[in-house]
Amino acid sequence: MEGHIAIFPSPGIGHLIPFTELAHRLLLHRRLFITFIIPTAAGTTLKPQNDILNAMPETISSIFLPPVNINDLPNDVALATRISLTVTRSLPALRQTLNDLTSSQSVKKSPSALVVDLFGPPSFEIAKDFNIPPYLFSTVSAMTLVSIFHTPILDQMYACEYIDLPEPVRLPGCVPIPGADIAEPLNDKKNEAYSRVVEIAKLYSLAKGVLVNSFLELEPGPFKAMEEGEWCKPEIYSVGPLIRSGSGNQTGEGFECLKWLDKHPVGSVLFVSFGSGGTLSQKQLNELAFGLEQSGQKFLWVVKSPQGKSDASYFYSQTRIEPCEVLPEGFLERVEDRGLVMSYWVPQVEILSHVSTGGFLTHCGWNSILESVVCGVPMVAWPLYAEQKQNAVLLTDGLGVACRVKADGQGVVGRDEINKCVRSLMEGEDGRKMRLKMNEHKGLGVTNIIVVLSFNVSYKFISYVKMQRCPI
Ligand code: UDP
Repeated sequence: MEGHIAIFPSPGIGHLIPFTELAHRLLLHRRLFITFIIPTAAGTTLKPQNDILNAMPETISSIFLPPVNINDLPNDVALATRISLTVTRSLPALRQTLNDLTSSQSVKKSPSALVVDLFGPPSFEIAKDFNIPPYLFSTVSAMTLVSIFHTPILDQMYACEYIDLPEPVRLPGCVPIPGADIAEPLNDKKNEAYSRVVEIAKLYSLAKGVLVNSFLELEPGPFKAMEEGEWCKPEIYSVGPLIRSGSGNQTGEGFECLKWLDKHPVGSVLFVSFGSGGTLSQKQLNELAFGLEQSGQKFLWVVKSPQGKSDASYFYSQTRIEPCEVLPEGFLERVEDRGLVMSYWVPQVEILSHVSTGGFLTHCGWNSILESVVCGVPMVAWPLYAEQKQNAVLLTDGLGVACRVKADGQGVVGRDEINKCVRSLMEGEDGRKMRLKMNEHKGLGVTNIIVVLSFNVSYKFISYVKMQRCPI
């Protein structure tokens, strides 16, 4: 074996999935040990994480750190605070784990790099104490990464809230971002999550390198800006799109929907899903049901139990629901021949790559977007939380591969609006253009990473990651 890489992801399946793909790709090119050191919060279920980690090759091992208590936080605390506190409260356990690994005589045990994601830079201090080079793995778009690099600068520039700015925020190489679409929690300076993110962003320049899960052809402007900007100190490597290659096992729970897709014509089905964490209110759920019904389109919809908060299931898993309990009366019967409603977890990559899938109504999580791009599926953008509104701006104004729903004065997206957007995507002229645009990106998005790792005698991680277009 040629080395050992320690990976410290922040909590949440959306953070873990791209790391597991990074690990797979690293193993394609080098004989490495990889250890996932995973922070956890008390009361969260780890089943989806465990399912994914258990399917990894045996040179990848995982250590779940002891669950930290975040029950002292108020229920309505920002998601970013929840994630970042879980990470910082896990730092003593990370230190202990790194100590155990580095004090071992075995080369297998002593890590030659620590790779963390966006909330992980507070661990850089610990990596330094153990003389382990820290790397950042960006699981968001290059545009969002540019915006995070600029957070401390913008904090100095503007005293007011972004939403009160008369003009959109203009960042180097990026599509202008209207103040109302700035990522959470930066959109609320009074919230302590804001200052947390500003402080974490200041640590980004201490990374030895940043691996970005995006690719040059999709986001040329932000990559160029990071290469040229004085404000961007670490080396930047585009390593995307790293998306799950699929489970291969098509017999498990959730796979019945692939059989259902087989029955429908090419490009005819709209896939509707709000990722691992997105939830809707009961009122919004009803509007979506009626909007899908009115549209007359075929759809495959993953329904979660209705909640008041849009990110309610990100941290704590939801209890499984019977769709008929939360959907309008008679809905399932009325759409029986053209709609399939699932609850819990479906094989999203397999669904998006199925020929019958012609559109994706998405909450605009970055993994979901990359998966849709790789599969060439245009989108209806329905951002809910985190940096999803910024992603929606990139998809609509930047790339022209999605239409975006508009909410009414009470923040509810009405059935007529849903009907309009869905039909426009699935059968309208706008949808046709988006599909053509998406096909351009699809061709470019298939990449192959060549990872060259060289180690000096003390097994320090000196690496570079070079992207090369795959001929297929
Ligand atoms: N996902 C899935 N099945 C589901 C829900 C989500 O496979 O039923 C996967 C999806 O393919 C993606 C990830 O979970 O890889 C969600 O990540 P994303 O960044 O899109 O959103 P998040 O859940 O982090 O908000």
